[in-house]
Amino acid sequence: MRGDDLERYSRQIMLEELGEAGQERLGRAAVLVVGCGALGSAQLGLLCRAGVGRLRFIDPDRVELGNLHRQLLYDERDVAAGRPKAEAAAAHLAAVNSGVVLEPLVERAGPGNIAGLLAGMDLVLDASDDLRLRYLLNDACVRAGLPWLYGGVDGAGGMLLAVEPGRGPCLRCLWPDPPAPAGPPPVFPPAPVLVGAQQAALALRRLATGEPLPGRLLLLDAWQASWRALQVERDPHCRCCGARRFDFLPGGKVPDAGDG
Ligand SMILES: [Zn+2]
Repeated sequence: MRGDDLERYSRQIMLEELGEAGQERLGRAAVLVVGCGALGSAQLGLLCRAGVGRLRFIDPDRVELGNLHRQLLYDERDVAAGRPKAEAAAAHLAAVNSGVVLEPLVERAGPGNIAGLLAGMDLVLDASDDLRLRYLLNDACVRAGLPWLYGGVDGAGGMLLAVEPGRGPCLRCLWPDPPAPAGPPPVFPPAPVLVGAQQAALALRRLATGEPLPGRLLLLDAWQASWRALQVERDPHCRCCGARRFDFLPGGKVPDAGDG
């Protein structure tokens, strides 16, 4: 490890659980962040500062005034310039840590580009505000055997599910189908920062140690200052990760997702 990296990361290398070996694993890791809003700002800022080697992030939108109360990567200059979020995020992140390879994408994630987005990635973080997209991420990540972390926020409430394909439950094990789309929810700004930070924490642990993600659903109430952790089980009949998995997808079953 280079001398300035030893200095930059000295306080996290001191962590017994991480150490120099864990830091080097972070430097070789690649993460996809889907969405560059409030959750994505928190995740990207933390992963970039912690030295994850490659960050790919995608968002089709521009920075707006109504984003600034909760989206920590942006400021009024980005609003005035009408900058796309992915580009503005890349500029801010490059100023924080020039050692990280940044791949900003100003486009919408969807069925047409999901395979290319996942290619070469070690882990995926959900920071989108679109439930159908989250189900697409779930199915694609389980199919590819990629760990991913679902995160969502409504008001002061937040939710996080860590999905380790082949071991723990996936999103469809808990909720087989996405609920009907709703309008944008109210947001108490600390809620997405807390959820995004917890997603980043689990991602860093997974990447630095290789230890599987815990099959746990976390529920946050940022107003009441409480987290609840629920142990959740895999559904053997899940259409995505169960025995008859992927029957509903074009192409049918994919045998290599593993049963753990
Ligand atoms: Zn499942």
